[in-house]
Amino acid sequence: MFDKLTEKISDAFRFVAGKSTITEKNIDDAVEAIKMALLEADVNLRVVRRFVNSTIEEAKGEKVLRAVDPGQQFIKIVHDKMVSFLGDTEKGPTGRPAQELQLKGPDTITVILMLGLQGSGKTTSSAKLALRLKKEGRKPLLAACDLIRPAAIEQLSVLAGQIDVPVYKEEGTTDTLRVYRGALDYAKKNLIDTLIVDTTGRLQLDEPMMEELSRLKDLSKPDELLLVADAMTGQSAVDIAKAFEEKIGLTGVILTKFDSDTRGGAALSLKTITGKPLKFVGIGEKPEDFEPFYPERAAGRILGMGDVVSLVEKAQEVIDEKEALELQKKIEKETLTLEDWLEQLRAVKKMGSLKSMLGMIPGLAGKINEEDLDKADLKYQEAILSSMTRKERQNHLIIGPSRRARIARGSGTSVAEVARLLKKFEKMRVMMKRMAKTGKGMSMPGMLS
Ligand code: GDP
Repeated sequence: MFDKLTEKISDAFRFVAGKSTITEKNIDDAVEAIKMALLEADVNLRVVRRFVNSTIEEAKGEKVLRAVDPGQQFIKIVHDKMVSFLGDTEKGPTGRPAQELQLKGPDTITVILMLGLQGSGKTTSSAKLALRLKKEGRKPLLAACDLIRPAAIEQLSVLAGQIDVPVYKEEGTTDTLRVYRGALDYAKKNLIDTLIVDTTGRLQLDEPMMEELSRLKDLSKPDELLLVADAMTGQSAVDIAKAFEEKIGLTGVILTKFDSDTRGGAALSLKTITGKPLKFVGIGEKPEDFEPFYPERAAGRILGMGDVVSLVEKAQEVIDEKEALELQKKIEKETLTLEDWLEQLRAVKKMGSLKSMLGMIPGLAGKINEEDLDKADLKYQEAILSSMTRKERQNHLIIGPSRRARIARGSGTSVAEVARLLKKFEKMRVMMKRMAKTGKGMSMPGMLS
């Protein structure tokens, strides 16, 4: 669903990614490319403007321009902005994030009104939600309160049968409130904890529908008012959501037909335009084809690099900027010691599996020599370095043959291995100095090869 957008945004990052310094012009170029990508994906113009302005404002701050790895900082800003445009982290009435379903405890009945136009997928989504809640151990009841569409009651009954969830219906009446009362009564008598109400939908927004829904809302005092909207209709799904929010009030939105070939603009615009989060997406016709919407994951998918963001966060946890800058200076002055190397090794170890870490960087894993990633090798290196005295680590030139033998014994390795490590270190110092001079910065994998 976001494929095209992902491709374009990844392309936009080429202006900043991998550079050791970036300029305001680089940021402008990247943001302009992101703007085009969002517009092409049918994201609402107001949303695009807001996104672009807030990204530029933050990205041009000191934090990015002076960062050790400005490209990744920039990507992280775009990612975080996208998460906040996609989702709601504020608390809902039950204390859970407003993004999630607000369910009361099992002793009270949670009421969920499903709203939407005909054909949006409202009836199907009611059954999908019921199945999901049933799997979570709740006892849902489907109430057939769409009394306008001729086949709606029958369709809901068939779906309820398929997922083995009870359905409450009354044939031959047009009184929605009466059916609702009947359903609530049934729910109380049958230990139901969640009442999912399939309400009346019409072909277009009209007053009679809104009035009926208002009355139903007043009577039922629902915990959730979920609008079901068809993602394939793009921006008009957002307009419909806005109208429902203004007339009835919503707590969230379900976008159906997310499996179709839509461009994703509706998903990205909903929260900003209506103020209400997208809570679920429908991804097929079957009752199981239903997923909660996770803003973090969606943003990761859109940027095509969700894992890189967590990698940057992880790296920020273990290496602070000042330390990294000091290291850089040492490299330039060729005063880097084995002591620094040991520190780096430990930092890498703290980040978790090296292989998985490198696997998070798109296109990098394949380019790195397998041997360099050998964890056992890292362990050896750490053992050897730990067996040296601090003095030796601060000046490796004092490590003569007898010291090498002692270090080998202490670390359970051989003299040859100690010698290999020292040689590697010498080579690395030269290489890193060269890298620092050419302005390419240094990378962790470089230190380990
Ligand atoms: P209602 O009039 O709003 O109750 O709409 P329905 O629930 O009857 O759905 C209309 C059509 O859309 C049906 O053919 C559904 O099978 C289909 N539909 C609903 N949700 C999805 C979805 O997430 N993906 C796909 N591909 N089809 C869906």
